[in-house]
Amino acid sequence: MAETRHTKVLIIGSGPAGYTAGIYASRAMLKPILVQGIEPGGQLTTTTEVENWPGHSEIQGPDLMVNMETHARATGTEIISDIITDLDLSKRPFSAIGDSGTIYTCDAVILATGARAKWLGLESEEAFKGFGVSACATCDGFFYRDQEIVVVGGGNTAVEEALFLTNFASKVTLVHRRDELRSERILADRLMKNPKIEPLWFHELAEVVGDDMPKGVTGVKVKHTKTGEITEIPCKGVFIAIGHAPANELVKDVLQTHMGGYVVTEPDSTATSIPGVFAAGDLTDHKYRQAVTSAGMGCMAALETERFLAENDE
Ligand code: FAD
Ligand code: NAP
Repeated sequence: MAETRHTKVLIIGSGPAGYTAGIYASRAMLKPILVQGIEPGGQLTTTTEVENWPGHSEIQGPDLMVNMETHARATGTEIISDIITDLDLSKRPFSAIGDSGTIYTCDAVILATGARAKWLGLESEEAFKGFGVSACATCDGFFYRDQEIVVVGGGNTAVEEALFLTNFASKVTLVHRRDELRSERILADRLMKNPKIEPLWFHELAEVVGDDMPKGVTGVKVKHTKTGEITEIPCKGVFIAIGHAPANELVKDVLQTHMGGYVVTEPDSTATSIPGVFAAGDLTDHKYRQAVTSAGMGCMAALETERFLAENDE
């Protein structure tokens, strides 16, 4: 029979927002349960150096997230390896079903499910996912030692991925649809100075080209955004780094969303349209999408949860 667990506050997600909410909720004696999801530690576990987390001029993303998990655990957050597959917010106590079969009931919930990589939506991209097409350089870069690689995008992620991939690749071509990077200046400067990286401005990925036996990428066709001219670039790996979309599957039909699916919260607050449901981090933030802002929102969510429970349940 399925186990049922009740908690005052259920935190869904184990990125900076979730763990920070755990730390604050534990210190408020709320004994939170935090469900980690499919990516324990969240997006920062897919990167290397983090250089803008206050207090560390440089720390590896996975190490930072282990530190946060250890901190949350030490304050009393119960951290559970499970994935929430269904969430019922129609009445309190709210209930959530875990992939493990466990049913979690709670008086308040903090949604911190973050964001996931976006894909271009090309048929050929889908066909070669896992066979040369990836959205995670730290996960897959190692496979491309001395090979040529294409990175698509012009934001912080694309630039960081391109720089990181020069550790392995013989050449990295950065394909961007404009001639100006969206990334921070410091990263753009590093990219422009790196002799292994060649930016290809005003181009979009038109098709991933490859073989079936053995299955793998052999190149890409790119299209000039102004002239429409198609060029083929030989490569073994294609890294798509065109941004992230909020992981809103659990709530997109019951909570208001905007700007491409981000959960709407009240101004200067993490409160959503349902009393007792709070949202923090990249799930709700279309603007900043940083670890430190996510952690800040996790803090706000826990403090607002504490106030909500004090006013409604005690
Ligand atoms: P996320 O980190 O996205 O975590 C979401 C969590 O929710 C995950 O643990 C996931 O398992 C969980 N989850 C999702 N669905 C479910 C479910 N159904 N059930 C249970 N759990 C679920 N920011 C910086 O400030 N500095 C950087 O240097 C930096 N580098 C980056 C490099 C890369 C490659 C990327 C992709 C992002 C980077 N960012 C950086 C952005 C930063 O990672 C995010 O802003 C931050 O991680 C968002 O935190 P979050 O807690 O909202 O969610
Ligand atoms: P992003 O900032 O949204 O940038 C996405 C890039 O992909 C843009 O250059 C965009 O082009 C391009 N793009 C989007 N859709 C495209 C399409 N269909 N075809 C071709 N190109 C497309 O996303 P991100 O770089 O993943 O960053 C997400 C968030 O995480 C940001 O807030 C970022 O600051 C944060 N982050 C921070 C760090 C850091 O602090 N070091 C590192 C990584 C990520 P246009 O420029 O033309 O729109």
